Amino acid sequence: MTSTPLDLISPPLPRPLDASAPPIFQTSSFLFESYAAIADVFAGRSDRYIYSRGDNPTVSELEGLIARLEGTEAARGFSSGMAAICGAILPFVRAGDRIVAVQHLYSDAFRLFETVLSRFGVETTYVDGRDTEAMLAALPGARLVYLESPTSWTFHIQDLRAVAERARSLGVLSVIDNSWATPVFQRPAALGVDLVVHAASKYLSGHSDTLGGLVAGSRALIERIDHEATHLLGGRMAPMDAFLILRGMRTLELRMRRHMESGLKVARALGRHEAVTAVHHPGLDAARPEGLTGFGGLFAFDLAEGVDVERFCDALRLIRLGVSWGGPESLIVPGQAARGLAGPANSFRRFGVDPRTIRLAVGLEPAEEIVADLFRAIASARRVAA
Ligand SMILES: *Cc1c(COP(=O)(O)O)cnc(C)c1O
Repeated sequence: MTSTPLDLISPPLPRPLDASAPPIFQTSSFLFESYAAIADVFAGRSDRYIYSRGDNPTVSELEGLIARLEGTEAARGFSSGMAAICGAILPFVRAGDRIVAVQHLYSDAFRLFETVLSRFGVETTYVDGRDTEAMLAALPGARLVYLESPTSWTFHIQDLRAVAERARSLGVLSVIDNSWATPVFQRPAALGVDLVVHAASKYLSGHSDTLGGLVAGSRALIERIDHEATHLLGGRMAPMDAFLILRGMRTLELRMRRHMESGLKVARALGRHEAVTAVHHPGLDAARPEGLTGFGGLFAFDLAEGVDVERFCDALRLIRLGVSWGGPESLIVPGQAARGLAGPANSFRRFGVDPRTIRLAVGLEPAEEIVADLFRAIASARRVAA
């Protein structure tokens, strides 16, 4: 595990008025004292703040922090993880292009590819990310490769260095969703990935109280994103959300360590339970992938046929039913219910997420309490043998 990045605790640069917490610049616009001053800004001779859809000082502080943590030159904040994913993709693709995406990616990213992008003439090929040779073989001729390691629901790992290196040599842009590992446990840019995306709504903010997204990458790529995504698509991060995410990130390393320890404890306990047929957690495999120094607390497990999924869910007391993850509270989503999601591109049906799979976000409660709640619910949901 990386040591605590000191940046998380205190910023390298003094803040206005030496404030110890980030000031919230709740302003849409910034004023100029003279014609010369505003003309300089418009001519690109000055980098003063103009309008918060472009840049805002509170958002800039978070962008600087995530860029330093991910080891990239720059970053940009968006109003949600999905806005960040759009920001990382739309400026780089055109009709006729092909994207290579890892199978079992985040469900709404999949739907973005299958609906909006496909309507604009961008086709996506899905590849099992565990099969590095298949990933590499799919790259020639693609415009962009979209990774998520581990994947959603199945928690499959990809060989990031191998894919990123081949992509770079072929001129294919590589993008990864790093929301699960966070820069505390995984820094994909160091392995050669071009753009790193975050749903800051999850671990980075960490308190289930806001939405946000970030894209980190080279200055050149972020400039391109600036021209099209931040200014023209406009799904920009708000100053108050940047403040909340910065506030959450002060404890990011501490929380990630707890999510990891509890997640592993709960996963191992479930693995020993006779009514659990599989546990999907990358930390249970013997081999630790290159570049992954720790594990998030989100994973999945499969209940045996003898356990009624509906009764199991309703028997939980501590763990609540709810989407999202990364906050202090433990949450589950039953795959059986998620399969019913409407829409032309339901990744659960298409990629066969098992109806007996339960996704569990292990929160910050004591691990023993989480295990006790799960075991009690399993016991009360067991079908009595006829
Ligand atoms: C939630 C999530 C997103 C989307 O983030 P939003 O802020 O909800 O738009 C993207 N990727 C992953 C892996 C997620 O879990």
